[in-house]
Order: sequence, then C-alpha cells, then structure tokens
Amino acid sequence: MTKRRLPEDLSVETLSVRTGQLPTDEQSHSEPIFLTSSFTYDSAAQAAARFGGEEPGNIYSRFTNPTVRSFEQRLAALEGGERCVAFASGMAAITCTFLALLAPGDHIVSSRSVFGTTNVLYEKYLKKFGITTTLVDIGDLDAWRAAITPQTRALFLETPSNPLAEVGDIAALSEIAKERGALLIVDNCFCTPALQKPIALGADLVIHSATKYLDGQGRCLGGAVVGSDPEISEVYGFLRTAGATMSPFNAWVFLKGLETLSLRMKAHSEQALDLAQWLEKQPGIERVHYCGLSSHPQYDTAKRQQSAFGAVMSFSVKDSDGNADRQAAWRFIDATQIMSITANLGDTKTTITHPATTTHGRVAAEEKAKAGVTENLIRVAVGLEGLEDLRADLARGIKALGYEV
Ligand SMILES: *Cc1c(COP(=O)(O)O)cnc(C)c1O
Repeated sequence: MTKRRLPEDLSVETLSVRTGQLPTDEQSHSEPIFLTSSFTYDSAAQAAARFGGEEPGNIYSRFTNPTVRSFEQRLAALEGGERCVAFASGMAAITCTFLALLAPGDHIVSSRSVFGTTNVLYEKYLKKFGITTTLVDIGDLDAWRAAITPQTRALFLETPSNPLAEVGDIAALSEIAKERGALLIVDNCFCTPALQKPIALGADLVIHSATKYLDGQGRCLGGAVVGSDPEISEVYGFLRTAGATMSPFNAWVFLKGLETLSLRMKAHSEQALDLAQWLEKQPGIERVHYCGLSSHPQYDTAKRQQSAFGAVMSFSVKDSDGNADRQAAWRFIDATQIMSITANLGDTKTTITHPATTTHGRVAAEEKAKAGVTENLIRVAVGLEGLEDLRADLARGIKALGYEV
C-alpha cells in the first residue's frame, strides 16, 4: 500500500475495503500478515525508547502487532469510533471490558436476553469480584430507569437480541445512561456496523464477537471493543496485562471478512426478511420473531436505528395434532437437509438451532421462561445459499409437523 491519504466522509463499503492499510515499504496491495511474536530494534537506545514509550512502534505481539492494528483501525472506522482494541474472542472482549472499567461495589444493568456466556460471566464470575447485575426487559425503558442505582456504572445490551430478535432503543438508553452517569455498552454482533452504528446513536462502547459476521465464514474466533478515551486506554492496558490477544492470522482473516461485510449483510437480511414473511403464513408456525416484520413489537425502533434487519429469526411450531413442544421442534429441525444443525451463527451457511436445549440449556428454567425460550422455539440464522433451496428446506420441516406446504 502506498502512503496516499484517503479522502474524508467515505461510505461503509469504501471504509471496509480501504481503511487500516498500513503503509509498508514493500507496497503490498493486500494487507500483510505479521506472524511474529516480537520485534527488533536498531540499537539498545531504540529498545529503551520503545519500552519507555518515548518512541512509538512495535514491541511484542501481546499488545502491538501491525496486522491486528490494521483490523482495529478498519473496525474503528466502520463503527465511527476513535479507537478499537481487538481480543482473542468476543467473550474475552466482554470480560476484559468489564474487568478493566469496573471495581468491587459497581453495578451493571443489562438486558435479559444476552449471549448465554455473558450471563454466566455476570452470575458466576463478576459477582465473585463484588460486581452485581440487574437484568431487565430490553424494550422496557422504565425498567431500565428503575434498575439504575448510584452504583450503576454500565448499561449493557445486545440488539437485536438472541433468539427473539428483540430490539433496544439505543438513543433512548444513551440519554438514560448520560443522565445517570453510566456507560452505555452495545454488543453489535447481530447487526454489525454495516446495518447499525451504536456510537452515532449515543453508545459509549461497542462490543463485537468477530467470530460471527465480521468473519462471516465461520473460520476464526475474535472479539473487539470500539470507543474513545479514557475507556479504551483502560481496556487496552488491561489487555496488555491479561493477554487475551487476537492472533495476527485471525486479524488478517477478519480484515478480509470486513471487505465483503456490507454485501453479505445486505444479502443475509434480504433472504431472512423474505423467509420470515413467508413463514408467518405457513401452517404449524405459531409465531415468527424477526425485527423486520411489522408484527414485531419493536419494528419501528428497528426501522429507525437499523438499515436492514439482519439474518437471525426464531419461530415457534405446533404439529398437526396440536403439540407445541420439544418433540415438534426437534422433528422440524431433523427434517431439514441443507441447514446446519448447530448452535453457531454468523456464517454463509444457514444454521438451525433448538435454543432451549443448546444455547440456553444452562439457563435456569425461570430465566428461560422470562427470555421467551420455549420448548417449541427454533432459531434460524439465514445464510447465503439460494433462497428457494432454503424455503424448500423449511417446507421439509413444516411437512414433518404433519402439514401440506
Ligand atoms: C457469540 C457471541 C458472543 C461471544 O463471542 P465468542 O467469540 O464466541 O467469544 C458474544 N455476544 C454475542 C451476541 C454472540 O453472538
């Protein structure tokens, strides 16, 4: 890459291809991978200056690696944030952000429907360090307000949520957070910056599991946090100590993934909307949860803050004998022939999941009921196979429930 400067005010599509390219003397067109654990110096004095922070430059790949920096710069540009810190996984990003910014006695208010492991972090580990969490319904602004105490340092949500695609109003929550002196942290995994820009809506920090749509092809684990100082410096300092570092190889895979992010997210969203609208009209489908349907309770909020509705939907099923239970859901899932039966999402390959016995299997029955994860619920994350092939696959599931399609 040459040392030419990019113009200002570029589109998401251009940013995802053109940012984060470090100028190198070799003028490599694609981003180079720096698979090296450490870096060398021209002299002992230069080594001292680097370690002392008087001279900028690479030291050790736990906290300075050029390929990882390329990824961080590209994702920061896409999210419209000042700085990004990359991590080994999405959970590393979430854990390190909380541990870097919170202290014993601090309190988090979080939406109820968050990634299952985030819930384990709240209940099992953060609690152990004296950090407590109150869970609220994502769309109930009064519940968010009521849950905030003088100790509340952070509001956390995932929007749209998993698996019911419930939507939180980021701009409204940002006002509440600012009034009460708390940080608003948004896990933007399901939309990505191609569809939703939480920082522009008032969020302080954006979290990613890069494992999902940023890669988009199911290859690598990674995570990231985007925001500004002083929070990002704290998080970066914590990463240097905790060592939950993204591998340069993975960073390179994510850089390449980001180049097709907008195209992929548009295609995922178009296919998901088409299938959700079709499913709503089919026999044996009790209810479809997808934020792009006008029947969705937060459809207006989704339309306002997202440019499309993403790939993830869920639906509850009932067989022709009237059973709306685990057996009906499993029969539907087992009848598909194309979709992957797996708990993962964010892939070119469509995935089909029974949340009650997989992603939410460790969640207590009471919390599961509150989160709307019933035994007859199925989640589908729509991939990039042919639309009609996917429709036919869902029709196989409907036939297995005892209906004609
Ligand atoms: C997968 C996921 C995570 C955790 O990411 P890992 O990369 O698996 O650690 C966090 N949040 C959401 C919304 C996710 O889907």
